[in-house]
Amino acid sequence: MLKNIFKLLLLLVFALVAFLILNTVIGKKPIPIYQTETIKDSADSAALHLSKAIQIKTVSLGDTLPIDTAAFIQFRNFMDATYPTIHKQLPKQTFNQFSYVYTWKGKDTTLSPCVLMAHMDVVPVEAVAESKWTVPSFSGAIKNDTIWGRGAVDDKVAVIAIMESVEQLLKEGYTPERTTYLCFGHDEEVSGKKGAGTISTWFKSNNIKPFLVLDEGGQIDNQHFKRLNRPVAVIGTSEKGYVNIDLTVEIPGGHSSIPNKETAIDVLNQAIEKIRANQMKPSIPASIKELLNRTKPAENFINQVVLSNLWLFNGAVINELEKTKETNAMVHTTLVPTIVKAGIKDNVIPSVAKATFNSRIIPGESSDDVLNFVIKAINDNRVTVKKQTISLMEPSPVTPFDHPSFKKIESIIGRIVPNVIVTPYLMLGASDARYYRSFSEAVINFSAVQDTKGFHGIDERIGKSDLNRMVGFYRILIKEKW
Ligand SMILES: [Zn+2]
Repeated sequence: MLKNIFKLLLLLVFALVAFLILNTVIGKKPIPIYQTETIKDSADSAALHLSKAIQIKTVSLGDTLPIDTAAFIQFRNFMDATYPTIHKQLPKQTFNQFSYVYTWKGKDTTLSPCVLMAHMDVVPVEAVAESKWTVPSFSGAIKNDTIWGRGAVDDKVAVIAIMESVEQLLKEGYTPERTTYLCFGHDEEVSGKKGAGTISTWFKSNNIKPFLVLDEGGQIDNQHFKRLNRPVAVIGTSEKGYVNIDLTVEIPGGHSSIPNKETAIDVLNQAIEKIRANQMKPSIPASIKELLNRTKPAENFINQVVLSNLWLFNGAVINELEKTKETNAMVHTTLVPTIVKAGIKDNVIPSVAKATFNSRIIPGESSDDVLNFVIKAINDNRVTVKKQTISLMEPSPVTPFDHPSFKKIESIIGRIVPNVIVTPYLMLGASDARYYRSFSEAVINFSAVQDTKGFHGIDERIGKSDLNRMVGFYRILIKEKW
């Protein structure tokens, strides 16, 4: 009897393994092979222009802090003087003083247009970090075929690459098939509201629904996919949502020499710990499933079996993804305290303690789910929980992977990056493009740069070859028909 059960079990295991392998082999799709083309070198002037752009300190400090208007005027003058053909031939609209839209009318005005985006502002360099830079942070130094300085990656390289490619094509007498808008915001690093926000309202009120909106975000990545031994180009097709949750505890304070058993700070502390003790339920969003699917053929066979049978190994794959903070953020709505406030004097127990949690929401969940999770986790009615509405953004819709604009970008990357795997992914941070997601057919976050270095940090820099690839990428895109 026991022997028969054992035999039956063995048979079942064998059948399961056979099924898993069959599923792996049948579902196996080869990595697409693209015909590669070389991008011709753009003139050295492109690097010089980027260097000059970096030297103009178009810094965004904070939503409520004033900007250095002189710097933004200088940047405007720089753009007008450096790209005279664009300045002369393309009508320019100005939004909130320092954000611009250039309109390049296409041959066929019945086709819906393209939008190429970038932002001109940069984050500041902390005074304590300045001495750690190899070169002064706003010098725009060109050393070893690399352009150095704040904004080299984020995002002046895109501003310059778009302008270079359009200036060249205009000089060559080229007119694109679709009308192409060049949209440059000046406040992406704070909220993007005055720039991209206002510009997107203009698009909506004129009932212009772009066929493609292309902004910063994804890039060509060798660092995170080392074991695959080939570059992976990740294209952002959706963005996580954004919500801040405020916790407030009010308990009468008093003299610190005779404290109560629990103070407002104690109760707030416990609430923070309870929220941090658990994560919200994980799930693999569609774009990450597609990423796993597309990189699968380059994995070893065991990984291929696992990834081909997510119905069985979903939990194991999630466990693996939870191991690093970046991949954890791909499968979880995150919640982290970013502001804690209480107390004004060392010998006074404060009667109010407050904390703000910043949450990034994965597709499939909402800000209300976050709020409910927090209330349930705290389970203490002495803590008032409220969500902020001012910066609230629910998770964005997903650009379909079969949209012609996605496929077009995919094929261009395939052509200019040898041996590449191209895949959608989920944007973990926010970009200006989020303002366009509600009314555009395809919003795509991608820059043709590779393993960027130092953005928002020390020694931000970009290789001339990256700038060159960017200019080439925009040139090809503008000249394509689809
Ligand atoms: Zn940026």
